Amino acid sequence: MSRKIFVFDTTLRDGEQVPGAKLNKRQKLEIATQLAKLGVDVIEAGFPCSSPEELQAVSAVAEQVRGPVIAGLARAVKQDIDIAWEAVQKAERPRLHVFLGASDIHLQKKLRRDRESAMEMAVEAVRYAKKYCEDVEYSTEDASRSDFDYLCRVIEAAIGAGATVINVPDTVGYAIPDEYGDLIRRLREGIPALDHVTLSVHCHNDLGLAVANSLAAIRNGASQVECTINGIGERAGNASLEEIVMNLKTRPASYQAYTDIQTQEIYRTSRMVSRLMNIPVQPNKAIVGANAFAHSSGVHQDGILKDRKTYEIIRPEDVGIRQHNIVLTARSGRAALRHRLTDLGFELNPEQFERVYNRFVSVADRKKEIATEDLRVIVEIELTRVPETFSFHSMQIMSGNTMTPLASVTLLKEEQKLTDAATGNGPVDAAFNCIERIVGQQGKLRDYDLKAVTMGRDALGEAMVRVEIGDSIYSGIGTSPDVIEASTRAYLNAFNRFFANSQA
Ligand SMILES: [Zn+2]
Repeated sequence: MSRKIFVFDTTLRDGEQVPGAKLNKRQKLEIATQLAKLGVDVIEAGFPCSSPEELQAVSAVAEQVRGPVIAGLARAVKQDIDIAWEAVQKAERPRLHVFLGASDIHLQKKLRRDRESAMEMAVEAVRYAKKYCEDVEYSTEDASRSDFDYLCRVIEAAIGAGATVINVPDTVGYAIPDEYGDLIRRLREGIPALDHVTLSVHCHNDLGLAVANSLAAIRNGASQVECTINGIGERAGNASLEEIVMNLKTRPASYQAYTDIQTQEIYRTSRMVSRLMNIPVQPNKAIVGANAFAHSSGVHQDGILKDRKTYEIIRPEDVGIRQHNIVLTARSGRAALRHRLTDLGFELNPEQFERVYNRFVSVADRKKEIATEDLRVIVEIELTRVPETFSFHSMQIMSGNTMTPLASVTLLKEEQKLTDAATGNGPVDAAFNCIERIVGQQGKLRDYDLKAVTMGRDALGEAMVRVEIGDSIYSGIGTSPDVIEASTRAYLNAFNRFFANSQA
């Protein structure tokens, strides 16, 4: 008999803790809306007490996103719980998620408490949260390194105080599958009360075992998994949602468990998270990497052509990677573009559609055919724009192996054209120097990633940058068939985020 596994997505909380991945309210809402479409059971929308902006963003998700449970994280103290409740109270189904260390090292070094007083604190916090909210999740932080008997007592006490979900995290990614599965089984055997609550796991990937540990826990009776899109999260990341889900779906006989995830939405969600949080997906990443379904050796290609099942265990379309045959060009017109966008699941208002159409025409002018992937990139970029203090107008580059590269860039500020020229160590550096001169602000490039998002020599290049401006790091993204232009647009995009942020 197959059991339902509840998918608790923490992309917007644990995932957002990745340096440089901070989202604003609008971006958070956009991802949360997509997660609801993906069919996750719980969205952990954030850690509301971390900042007033975070509180606002979590509140917006709670108010506007329907379907999943919306959870807010809180330390086991009243003030945190008050703020978390303020954030999630308007949700259709709110949940308060309270956590406290359970291992001796966390108790002694971090909390400076003995076991008994920590247990009292946990009980008090659950009771306090329960006054606000029927659904209270309690996390025994660092459970995998905790004393087993103490862990059992804390869990029993938390259930006694009203917890509806007990989470047993491998906070530091130290567990290995057999041992972790065993821990879950022993907890279930030792604590009968666990039968009446949801037993959850939350695994980190420090040893590359987050997904394996989560699956071992499922096989041993866990009924909720905490995970993130693309496996992003603190340090080496969390368990990847798409890998857990596709394991259960591909090997049903082995796991006897299923999720309610709409797997055809996986790829789109993965791209959206990567783009909005500026965290590229490694090409060989299982399920969602660019090469996950690419067959390169002749023998494999031959097999695939004869029967896909020879070398393919998952159909790309099952995770939402669709092959389209209609070719869009600069002459395709609005109707064809609109049709294709609807096909891809994008719902744009007229103003957004016009912006997408204009960008489409300018890309299609330089690139003969616009592939589905090109279109996704164009739409996602147009939909996730920050207000532009400076907008890109044009650029020229002189470069070669025997000369100092020289760039001239023209930006628009309102109606005014601003042009400057600069040299640099390379053409990209020269263009970046131009931008800094025009906007009158220095930046330090922390990270630079350039890749072709589509196939072929006329592929669309996508540049992602992280730039230190003032005391913060700002991400930027830019797309163009010309890689220097893509990089320049990305750099400018980071500065526009900086200006948008300093005006807000
Ligand atoms: Zn975590």
